[in-house]
Amino acid sequence: MPRYDFRCRSCGATFELRRPMAQANDPAVCPEGHQDTVKLLSTVAVTGAAGAAGAASRAPQQGSGGGCCGGGCCG
Ligand SMILES: [Zn+2]
Repeated sequence: MPRYDFRCRSCGATFELRRPMAQANDPAVCPEGHQDTVKLLSTVAVTGAAGAAGAASRAPQQGSGGGCCGGGCCG
């Protein structure tokens, strides 16, 4: 059963509930009894999408050989 995170806007507490997906958008009640809660974007376990190719966002290498700066910092 998926787990959903909620935040209470009355007291600021965050809590989580396990409920069927059909009830994901139903209002939740804070453990303190408040009803002014919002559902947070929780980290839903995505099956199959993990480990996608993410090597494209690496910083390009600087191809200039030699000293560190060519200026005065390294003498
Ligand atoms: Zn509360």
